Amino acid sequence: MNGPISRMIAHTVGMNHSFATQAVHAGREDLAELGVHAPPIDLSTTYPAVDSHVEADRISRFAAGLQPPGSPLYSRLHNPTVGRFESALATLEKAEAAVGFASGMAALTACLLAAVAAGKPHVVAVRPLYGGSDHLLNCGLLGTRISWAEPGRVGDAIEADTGLVIVETPANPTLTEVDLAALAAECGEVPLLVDNTVATPVTQRPLEHGASIVLHSATKFLGGHGDVMGGVVACGEEFAVRLRQIRIATGGILDPFGAYLLHRGLATLPVRVAAQSATAAELADRLADDRRVSVVHYPGRSPRRPGQMESGGAMLSFEVVGDATRVVAAVGLITPAVSLGSVDSLIQHPASLTHRIVEETDRQSCGVNAAMLRLSVGLEAVEDLWADLDQALKAA
Ligand SMILES: *Cc1c(COP(=O)(O)O)cnc(C)c1O
Repeated sequence: MNGPISRMIAHTVGMNHSFATQAVHAGREDLAELGVHAPPIDLSTTYPAVDSHVEADRISRFAAGLQPPGSPLYSRLHNPTVGRFESALATLEKAEAAVGFASGMAALTACLLAAVAAGKPHVVAVRPLYGGSDHLLNCGLLGTRISWAEPGRVGDAIEADTGLVIVETPANPTLTEVDLAALAAECGEVPLLVDNTVATPVTQRPLEHGASIVLHSATKFLGGHGDVMGGVVACGEEFAVRLRQIRIATGGILDPFGAYLLHRGLATLPVRVAAQSATAAELADRLADDRRVSVVHYPGRSPRRPGQMESGGAMLSFEVVGDATRVVAAVGLITPAVSLGSVDSLIQHPASLTHRIVEETDRQSCGVNAAMLRLSVGLEAVEDLWADLDQALKAA
C-alpha cells in the first residue's frame, strides 16, 4: 500500500528512541500498512504455494536459515506473529536478530547444537546456572563436552574445539553477578552466551558488554504473567541463520499465540521490572535487618559490583535460620511455586525444586544450600508482601 493514508499513518521506531518507547512500538512497523492496531495472530500451518518453481527456491532459502520475503509456506519455516516478537526483542537487546523457540530449554538446545554442528562441541560454563541448563550441559546429551570454570579461569579452560562460553548473571538462584566485560575479554574469539532471563534487557544488555549471544527463558519476565512458555536468542545475523536452520530441522518453534503474548508482554516490561525491582530492594533491606534471616542475596546490596545492571532487579534469595521449607509451606499471599518473573510473587526452595537435578556436591559448591529460598517479586504492594513474609518466617 503506497497511498497517502499509509504515508500518513506509517510510523517507525528507531534506535534513537528510548528503551520504554521501543518496548511499546518495536516489532509493530507493519501494522499500519495492514490497517490494524493490535498484531494479528496468524494461526495458519500452511500457505498457498501456486508456483512450485518459485516456492522450490524459497524453501531452499528457508532451509538455509534465511528469511525470504513473501508467504511463510509452512509454519515450521516462518510465522509472521513470531517474527514480530523476534524483531521487537532484537531491538530491546540491541541485537541484529532474534530467534524464538518453544521454551528456554529449546533455545539453549539450539545454541548447543549450533556449536556441535560447527565442529566445536566443547563448552565452558560458569556455575551456578539454572538447574535445567546445568543438567543439560553436565549430561552431554547433545554431544557437547563441558568444562566448569570460575570467572578468571575461563580463559584457561578454553580449548581448540570450544564453541561456546556460557554464563548467567545475575545467576539463578544465588543472584551472583559476573563481570561481563572481564569475562568477554577472557573468551577471545569464542562466543560468550549470556542467559539474561533474570536481569531482562531493562536492567542489563549483555551485547553492550562484549557478549555475542543473549538467551532468555521468555516464560519468565518477557511474558510476565505466568501464562506463556517460550524461549528466545538475540544475536548477530550469522548465528541467527544457524539457529533458524536448526529450528527448521528440529521443530522447537515458538507458537503464534505464545509469540503474541510475549510481544504484548514486552510493552509493559520496563514498568513491570522497575516496580518489581523497587519492591525487591525494599524487601531485601527488611530481610537483611531480620534476625530470622542469616544472609540476603540481592545484586542491589552487594558492595562490589561490575556496574552492568541499571537496577538490582526483581529477584532475591535469602537464607533462613531454621527450616526454610516451612516458610514455603506457610506463605499465604505469595505463591509457593517454581518459575519467576510473573506479576505475582513466587517463592521456592531451590535445593528441592529448581536445582534438584544438579548433583548435591555441585549444588553445594556453588552456594545453593538447604537454607536458601528464592523469591521472585511481583507487583503486589510491598507492605502486603512483607506482612506475608513476616508471618511465614515465624514458621521456620
Ligand atoms: C526457567 C529458566 C530457563 C529455562 O527456561 P524454560 O522456558 O523453562 O525452558 C533457563 N534459564 C533460566 C535462568 C531460567 O530461569
